[in-house]
Amino acid sequence: MADDNLITITLANAREIAKGHYSNLLCPHCRQQSVEAFFSEQNLKQGYGIWLECQRCEKVEHISCNSEPEGFSPLRISEKFQHLDDRAWNAEK
Ligand SMILES: [Zn+2]
Repeated sequence: MADDNLITITLANAREIAKGHYSNLLCPHCRQQSVEAFFSEQNLKQGYGIWLECQRCEKVEHISCNSEPEGFSPLRISEKFQHLDDRAWNAEK
């Protein structure tokens, strides 16, 4: 995993996600509480993605996890981001 991916999700937002808070998170770019968190899930639970999308400045942040992230909810899997991760995961094969 590239190190520069690890710093994109702030610790505060990671804590909120772990508590099951997926909406109105603080955007580190525009400083508004306008970030929505989503997940993606690789086949056979081989990997997971956490996606943060700011509804205001439209910045998207992403990290990959090898195990189920704290706060993970299948209900928050985003079709759009799942598709992006599926392509990345398929490219790794
Ligand atoms: Zn923003």
